[in-house]
Amino acid sequence: MELPFNLNGLISNLPVNSPYTADCFIYNHTLYPFFTAFLPSKRAEEVKRLMLEENGGSKVYGKAGILGSRLPLNEYMKFCPKCLEEDTAQYGEGYWHRIHQVPFVMACPLHKILLYDSTVLVRGHNPQAYIPANSDNCIIRDIPNYKPETIEKFVHIAKDVQNLLENGFPNKPFAWFAKQYVEKFKELGYANINGRVYWDDLIQDFKDFYGEEFLNAMQSNIEDKSQGQWIREVTHSDAKAMHPNRHLLLARFLELSLDTLFNKEICYKPFGEGPWLCLNPAADHFLEPVIKDVEIKYRRRNKNTNGFFRCFCGFEYMETVTREQGKRGTGQRRFVRVVKYGRVWEEKVLELINEGVSDEEIAVRLNADVRKIMGFRDNRDKDGRDKGEGGKETEIIETLDSSIDFIVKRQKYRDEWLQVVRENPDKGRVGLRRLANYTSTWLCKYDKDWWEENTPKKKYVQADSTIDWETRDKEILQCVKQTVQEILESDEKPQRISLRLIKTKSGLKSFDLQLDKLPLTKSFINSVIENPMDLHKRRIQWAIDKLNEEGKALTVTNITAMTGVGNKYRKQVVEEIKRVLGELVER
Ligand SMILES: [Zn+2]
Ligand SMILES: [Zn+2]
Repeated sequence: MELPFNLNGLISNLPVNSPYTADCFIYNHTLYPFFTAFLPSKRAEEVKRLMLEENGGSKVYGKAGILGSRLPLNEYMKFCPKCLEEDTAQYGEGYWHRIHQVPFVMACPLHKILLYDSTVLVRGHNPQAYIPANSDNCIIRDIPNYKPETIEKFVHIAKDVQNLLENGFPNKPFAWFAKQYVEKFKELGYANINGRVYWDDLIQDFKDFYGEEFLNAMQSNIEDKSQGQWIREVTHSDAKAMHPNRHLLLARFLELSLDTLFNKEICYKPFGEGPWLCLNPAADHFLEPVIKDVEIKYRRRNKNTNGFFRCFCGFEYMETVTREQGKRGTGQRRFVRVVKYGRVWEEKVLELINEGVSDEEIAVRLNADVRKIMGFRDNRDKDGRDKGEGGKETEIIETLDSSIDFIVKRQKYRDEWLQVVRENPDKGRVGLRRLANYTSTWLCKYDKDWWEENTPKKKYVQADSTIDWETRDKEILQCVKQTVQEILESDEKPQRISLRLIKTKSGLKSFDLQLDKLPLTKSFINSVIENPMDLHKRRIQWAIDKLNEEGKALTVTNITAMTGVGNKYRKQVVEEIKRVLGELVER
């Protein structure tokens, strides 16, 4: 059943009209589909040829790469007690299930329980004799105890093996798999864009993902670097044969389905598929996908990958994917910087200046810092017509902590709001909000500073002396409490709760927050303000929730990558993470 040989001999001894062919035997009743799954087709063919030959013998195992792997084969036929019970009830006798005989299949994928060794040898007994599985040779004995989560992993691997046995995936060259793995490393942040692998992180996460007990059972534990050598070998450009089980371990760790691994060529694209959007608000093709090429540069210093997007209108921007983000950054905000504004943009600035539009409004309309516009105006006044172009070409002028989708949305709401404000000069904040409720709510949530600056100010008609501070204290306390609640409930990466943050998030002015006159508010604020470790604790909890949500492993590396921590608190934070993870395990 394992990798038998002399199958031609067997077939020729069967009755003339027997439905069995050698291929049928090989594919459906031997471990050939398992052992040859990760071999190039030529080599798989040779294994098959040896299985047909009379003298194939142990050459089969060498050809299949099993000897080279130095991983053991099963000594005894294995069985699942539940399968045996059900088979006996149904057919009157048990039979050996192929899936149970695969090396390192430790559990029955159907019943999710551990397999037992029978007393029947896989090799060495009389090959002509057929021995059915029965209660004499299938005896339940003491076997090692495993943790439930380890057994669960055994079941996963057993299902992967079943998938290999049953679905006839196409054979591929060794280099195919190596490339698939490395591209996936890039996607997950285990390798840089040039394919340089961060082995320490990778191996640590691999160990955390499977756990020691499981890896010991798989004889794939990595206690030092040399034992992780197989991962290096299987991902090297001149990779050789590797035990199929190890391919399965690596693929599962990388969240690669077998279908993807065999059938879909992975090509890591940190910036997705082109064409990409032009982000020049002055161009008539603003936010249209007109940029066909991206130049990708890797920065060794901070391990960031930068993409440079140059549009024919002269506008150029740079987008950054940090190492931690990799593909995980999808959907999150990414960093976009304007590298060069270009001719079209500069002409538009001129046009607006000539129309008498204020620097502030130009800055908003053209999505730039007001200082840039002011500098531009100064330059022109000083040096005449041609100075505007060129100048600070490659300087990074503005940083937008935003994704493109976010910029698109923000621009739309800003435009809408400016229009409402322009068309209703007599209305105050409340009146304006009523006219464009959704727009103002969105802006207050995501673009508060801008909203504050571009909305007529509240007018305080009351003089300080006539203010009823007691009532005000209660009102402001309500507002502050709500703001803190919102901060705590936010899905975003936690920010430290400080007076400044409360002020920004609530929109309260310094005038509103004269804490000396607001005893209730003051004591509340003092009670909620966080020190750096408070913040880190909240970030750790946040990171754990996020990782859980995304089904990622809860490891110290993963968590610190998300929370971010400077050197000063690193040690404390790592200890805290370990403590929290410890608690989780106990529960
Ligand atoms: Zn079973
Ligand atoms: Zn453009």
